[in-house]
Amino acid sequence: MREDGGTIDRQPSTHGSPERAATVAALAAAAALLALVLWLWLRPPGRDDAPLRWDAFAPPAEVALRPWNAIVIHHSDSRRGTLESIDAWHRKKGWDGIGYHFVVGNGVDMPLGRVEATFRWRLQREGAHAGAGPAQSPFNQFGIGICLVGDFEHDALDPWQEARVADLCAELIRHVPSLGPARIIGHRDVPGKDTKCPGTKLDVERLRFLVRQRLQQ
Ligand SMILES: [Zn+2]
Repeated sequence: MREDGGTIDRQPSTHGSPERAATVAALAAAAALLALVLWLWLRPPGRDDAPLRWDAFAPPAEVALRPWNAIVIHHSDSRRGTLESIDAWHRKKGWDGIGYHFVVGNGVDMPLGRVEATFRWRLQREGAHAGAGPAQSPFNQFGIGICLVGDFEHDALDPWQEARVADLCAELIRHVPSLGPARIIGHRDVPGKDTKCPGTKLDVERLRFLVRQRLQQ
C-alpha cells in the first residue's frame, strides 16, 4: 500500500489536455505519411501482364531491320538492375551505352517480365554483348542480345520472366525472317567464349521449346 494515499492521481498532468491530444494526432499523422512515402518508395515494382506486341517495340519505319541470324540470351549476373543501371555500368567500361538490345526485368527494380528495348534495337545497331574476339564478332553484328536481370547461376528463373522472354523471342522470329527457334543460344554457346552466362539454371533448350509452342499457336 502506498504511503502517499494515492496523491499521484491528483498531481498536475497533461493527460487528456487538448494540447497533448493535438500533438499525438500530429505525430500519428506524420508517422502515417512517412510510412506511406516509404511504402511507395520501397514497394516491389509488381509484374508486367500487358500482352507483348511487336508494335510496342518495332523499330521506326525508316530504320531497316538488320539481317539478324541469332538471339543470344544473357543474364545480368546480379539480383537487381534496370536498363538504366546496366547502361551506366557499360558506359563506365567506356562503351557507348548498354551492349544489349533488350532487358527483361525480374521484379526487383523493374517489373517482373517487363521487356524494354534499348537504343541498339531501336536504331538496329550491332550489339556489344557476345565478346571481343573475332569468333564472337558475328554474334555482335547479327545477334540480338537479350539480358534477363538476375543471377541464374545461383537463383531459379521465375516462370513469368521465362514466359516473357519466350514471348519476345517468338515475336522477333515472326517478324525477322532470318531467325528461328534453333537460332536461340546462350552466351556460353558463342564459339570461343569462356563464360557461364546466362547461368546453369537457365535452360536454353527449354526456352526454344516454349518459343516453338508459341509459334504453333
Ligand atoms: Zn552474357
